[in-house]
Amino acid sequence: MTTNPRPSLRRIVKEATGQDISKCQACFDCDVSIENELDIPLGSLIQLVLQNDEEALHCQTLWSDAVMDASHNICKRGLNLHAVITVLREESNRRGG
Ligand code: SF4
Repeated sequence: MTTNPRPSLRRIVKEATGQDISKCQACFDCDVSIENELDIPLGSLIQLVLQNDEEALHCQTLWSDAVMDASHNICKRGLNLHAVITVLREESNRRGG
């Protein structure tokens, strides 16, 4: 019997938002400095998603509402990080938080 592997986080983001995060160039121009709100930079969060690393679903940065608020139009490469964060939160909840 075969089991369907879970789609990658990158694919989940792509299907839900149309955002292809492989366009992330790890430039870290989206770096936001909000005291006590981030455990990893926002750009690192995107890199974790590209690596299909579930840490992306549990890091403090993902769940920070201050980061969420700051994520509008913050990517200099045109990625909608607000939409990406929203989908990752939903996926984390789907996987049981
Ligand atoms: S600004 Fe955009 S392209 Fe640059 S690291 Fe952040 S998400 Fe990636």
